[in-house]
Amino acid sequence: MEFDWSKDETEFRSALKDFLSSELPEGFDAFDMPEHDAKEFSKTFAVKLAERGWLTPAWPKAYGGLDQSPWQSLILSEEMVAHGEPRFGQYMCVNWVGPALILAGTDEQKEYHLKRISRGDVMWCQGFSEPGAGSDLASLRTRAIWDGKDYVINGEKIWTSYAGVADFCFLLARTDGEAHKHRGISIFLVPTDAPGLTIRNIPSLFFDGAFNQCTFENVRAPASWMLGPENGGWPIIRKLLVNERVGVARYRRAARSLERAAKIAKAEGLFDDPTVLEALGRARAACEAARVLVYRVIDERAKGRYPDLTAYVYRVATIRAERAVYEAELHIEGLAGMAEGSVAAKQFGHAVTAGVATGTLEMQLNLIARDIVGGVGA
Ligand SMILES: Cc1cc2nc3c(=O)[nH]c(=O)nc-3n(C[C@H](O)[C@H](O)[C@H](O)COP(=O)(O)OP(=O)(O)OC[C@H]3O[C@@H](n4cnc5c(N)ncnc54)[C@H](O)[C@@H]3O)c2cc1C
Repeated sequence: MEFDWSKDETEFRSALKDFLSSELPEGFDAFDMPEHDAKEFSKTFAVKLAERGWLTPAWPKAYGGLDQSPWQSLILSEEMVAHGEPRFGQYMCVNWVGPALILAGTDEQKEYHLKRISRGDVMWCQGFSEPGAGSDLASLRTRAIWDGKDYVINGEKIWTSYAGVADFCFLLARTDGEAHKHRGISIFLVPTDAPGLTIRNIPSLFFDGAFNQCTFENVRAPASWMLGPENGGWPIIRKLLVNERVGVARYRRAARSLERAAKIAKAEGLFDDPTVLEALGRARAACEAARVLVYRVIDERAKGRYPDLTAYVYRVATIRAERAVYEAELHIEGLAGMAEGSVAAKQFGHAVTAGVATGTLEMQLNLIARDIVGGVGA
């Protein structure tokens, strides 16, 4: 078993680090910016990445990529996250919207959308969750009914991150109300300025634009907006949700946050306190465990598989890492850690939402119990 990085990978990471350190101020975090500023910043930044072939390196050359391996994407994700994710919401386009289009798009859809994504001048949002469909996503009720000319979409999506600044929505809607719930779902690529689509921001403690509610009222979608076959959306998103679950190197961002807390602990002489050392050690070990587990997922993906089971295990580890980091930081900062602007308060948002976004902790545990411990998987 070979655990080491290749020469090319090491050089890639090092060039990326140099570039990011020279372009971004110390402590940069795109999620600290107002949403519209973050979008504009990310567009300028993504163009610089695209010029170097660093926006979509693992995509096929035909679609604006460099045909590199999923390991290159992982390195990219780790370094972007460690430097405050200057791509802002564009990471979603790179991680799974583009790959979904590559997997299932028509030639026209690929030509139109993939070029824009790989140039870095477009933002997408994910219209999956609904007020009554989160963990049980397949019970979604947004309807798209063919009227002989267009699909007519009606329904409600919620918690849609970046919708307020997105150009397109990757929408799941039910096109067959009679079929088994997993079999009646289709994917639509909907421009966010489509008549009848209203987007309302939901204020949150997390980051500006983290949550929105999207209401579809008789939105007319031509057949050319459908991705993949009618009623065939579920198998496509099942494959791509793995990319979403592992696409953000949360353990790396959490480790960076922990380093800030450690500096505070050192400055305040807390390294003599064994409880502080224990909390820091525990948190760092949790980050490292998550890192190693995601490498297993990437290894499977590099072999051409869609690794569901290992992705669940990684996801649990990364949620635990986010929480362990928050606990250590709160321990170090004490009461000050409850105040806005503290290291712990910022980590709180990540620690809480990690266990909800892209599927809750409880759902991941259920899947591990059923599919791994229960004997279906390895
Ligand atoms: C930061 C963030 C960003 C998000 N961005 C998006 C986005 O861009 N697009 C989008 O579509 N959605 C987004 N979401 C929504 C997210 O996918 C859902 O919140 C998530 O799937 C949970 O669904 P729910 O909120 O409806 O909770 P529910 O499914 O109602 O769950 C409520 C509670 O019940 C538990 N529960 C439910 N079913 C079971 C079960 N069978 N066994 C055990 N426990 C169970 C859950 O674990 C949870 O604790 C985002 C969420 C967050 C936090």
